[in-house]
Amino acid sequence: MTTVSQAPGVEPDGARLLARLAALADIGRTGSGACCRLALTDDDRRGRDLVVGWMRELGLQVSIDPIGNVFGLRPGRRADLAPVMTGSHIDTVRTGGAYDGNYGVLAGLEVVAALNDAGVSTERPLVVAFFTNEEGARFAPDMLGSLVYAGGLALDEALATRAIDGAVLGEELARIGYAGSAPLGGIRPAAFVELHVEQGPVLDLEGITIGAVENLQGISWQQVDIVGQSNHAGTTPMRMRHDAGYAAAAVAHFVRALTREMGGDQVGTVGKVDLTPNLINVIAARASLTVDLRNTDEALLQRAETRLAAFLDELAATEGVSISTQRLARFEPVRFDPGIAARIAAHAEALGYTHRRMTSGAGHDAQMLARICPTAMIFVPSVGGISHNPAEHTQPADLVAGLRVLFATLLQLANEGA
Ligand SMILES: [Zn+2]
Repeated sequence: MTTVSQAPGVEPDGARLLARLAALADIGRTGSGACCRLALTDDDRRGRDLVVGWMRELGLQVSIDPIGNVFGLRPGRRADLAPVMTGSHIDTVRTGGAYDGNYGVLAGLEVVAALNDAGVSTERPLVVAFFTNEEGARFAPDMLGSLVYAGGLALDEALATRAIDGAVLGEELARIGYAGSAPLGGIRPAAFVELHVEQGPVLDLEGITIGAVENLQGISWQQVDIVGQSNHAGTTPMRMRHDAGYAAAAVAHFVRALTREMGGDQVGTVGKVDLTPNLINVIAARASLTVDLRNTDEALLQRAETRLAAFLDELAATEGVSISTQRLARFEPVRFDPGIAARIAAHAEALGYTHRRMTSGAGHDAQMLARICPTAMIFVPSVGGISHNPAEHTQPADLVAGLRVLFATLLQLANEGA
């Protein structure tokens, strides 16, 4: 496998990336040191303006689509070939850190800067993108910009979305000057690579520098409501009971047994149980509990859901209670492109970094891009696994390591298939 030798001697500048990260983190800085650039606020506009200014300085052709996604294109030698795209988001949660999203976008800019400095061109065009409202902290759903871009949500519906503060997304987009006119989905990449901080503890705990992310776990959240009959705990014979509390415990026991039986990546949690009337000497009339099921394989996740449903039917019959369920959230797992994940691992190896294959536990723009082109992600460690918190931190050496792996991966992809 070819590596950075495709552009011998060309190195991205880690110090320049760190300086841009610090400059962007200063916008929307709160008194407590957090970054607060909620999507389509004035602070988001200031952050966007700064990054777009950098794009123009680097000679990128900037285009903005109608949902406010921004694309900076560096032409390749072959205009007839689809570009290779990298990027992420620059909106933050209310108490965000400096790296979530911003790192992937600004590392993309540094890849372009290094190629510009060295006078190196690629066969395919390179695109650095940032997508609107990834965090979902002001408008639901999260990953909205990339979802619309990938065709998963109608533009009209997205523009009509109301913020938690009552504002309408389309109006806010126009107000801050980012309701663009570039055709939606007009730039269709040959491949997408997103560099991101892990936001979880795995790499930090294991002392590994690079995660080649090959999939993203699916999530199924349900609420289970059980109705039985309250009665005296002392006088009601066991055979005459319709005990919602017992039924809730049986569900929790079943979920654990199911995960043990299915094995693999199946995890399951009953994290919340409420009993009514919740008294020591009264058989519970009602129980309300949540079931969180996750798997990296959609068929297995569906099997877990089906098994749970069958168990609930059986339990309702044997205990003489009624059971209803309500879906709270459901996201299908995403399998990234194994070829790109393999390239990421190979470049990490060639550059002398420890690395492992891994699953993303969080959602990212890359999962939407995976609907339209081969996609994978690169993770670097989050110290203590902390994110969505001003204490979010990644060691500078790890930020630079991720940048170098991104550089090598993009360079290879941008010269392939020509
Ligand atoms: Zn993010």
